[in-house]
Amino acid sequence: MSVSSRTIQNLHSPASRAVQSIARNRSRRGVEVADRLAVAALACGSKLALGVADMMRECSSPANVWTAQDLHNGDGELFDGVGTYSSCGARLCPSCSAALRRRARRRARVALDSCPLLTGEHARLVTLTMPTVADASLLETMHAIERAWSLLRKRKFWRESVRAGIKGVEFTVTSLGYNTHIHILAVSRWIAHAGLRSEWTHCVRVAWRERGREIAFNTPSGEAIVDVRLVRAKAGASHASITQESALQEVLKYVCKPDAWLNVPESHLVEVAEVERFPRLFEVFGAMRASHETERASDADTSLDTPSISDGGQLMISFPESSPSVARARPPSLRSLVLTCDRPAWLKKLAHHFANRRAYRRGALCARYPYAIFQTLAGDVSFGVACRYTSIERENNL
Ligand SMILES: [Zn+2]
Repeated sequence: MSVSSRTIQNLHSPASRAVQSIARNRSRRGVEVADRLAVAALACGSKLALGVADMMRECSSPANVWTAQDLHNGDGELFDGVGTYSSCGARLCPSCSAALRRRARRRARVALDSCPLLTGEHARLVTLTMPTVADASLLETMHAIERAWSLLRKRKFWRESVRAGIKGVEFTVTSLGYNTHIHILAVSRWIAHAGLRSEWTHCVRVAWRERGREIAFNTPSGEAIVDVRLVRAKAGASHASITQESALQEVLKYVCKPDAWLNVPESHLVEVAEVERFPRLFEVFGAMRASHETERASDADTSLDTPSISDGGQLMISFPESSPSVARARPPSLRSLVLTCDRPAWLKKLAHHFANRRAYRRGALCARYPYAIFQTLAGDVSFGVACRYTSIERENNL
């Protein structure tokens, strides 16, 4: 069968339609959030937030979002995938946050495997909640919980109980404000519930006090709500325990969840778009950190995703440096360009940047997956050696 007839057949298969649905959904969400952000950025005169909205639109554009059939993994298994050729890297972008989430999942598994339990230790799922502070912005709330967490980690109680862990921060938007909590898959000795509750309450109180707010805990105990559950390796978990897989899902399920931004008020989106460093939603700490660092050092840049829930169907792709590594002045970041250029010049540079990155990554992906067929939402099909990244495109790279 010729490649072209195989192409047409594959692009109409049920699996292909499934990945296309994910791709279209992400693209649409990306434009939705970008539009809301742009309106708010214009209203408050934020050049940077408007630029981030432009970047998200490029990232979510039909020419940039692709689906692929017949990608292969190391075992020769074929699967379908979704991705973006060039990535904006914006915290609010559904496609880019999907990539972050996937990396977090992978790092969590490596970290977990690297840290066998010692005598007297168990894995525990710890949940630390924070009261809703009605008029606090999302960024302020996230800074407060990050600060409370950093205080807790330094406390003697915590250091003596917990040796390692994986942390995920979750926030949901309610009519009263942000409901925020931390899930931790911890490797620990016995953790006394009352002790943890009073330690965490102290840390939350201090974190908000440093921000000029006295907060109240409207609970029967007058303290923050915390929960500790035993994690068992296998099924058969009781109400008081949870399987390792479920605990991991709990820690990771809200990390960079694309839909999380949909209910965030516009003005808070501007704040999130503007901040250079958003508080970490995912973290590996303690004795697991060494493996995590090694993993990060070898981590590959990727924009590939697959609809598979298990990690087995996911691949990490390494793109070679798009610029020669010889001494050369580092090009300005997009964030700094948006602040220094006037709007027409910025939009031109942005489009140029995305077009070049797209051409480069399309070529790299086709070369890496010679059996795969890539199709953008705009309908452009690429496969095999048909797309080569040329030296001209390389020179033009931003
Ligand atoms: Zn993006």
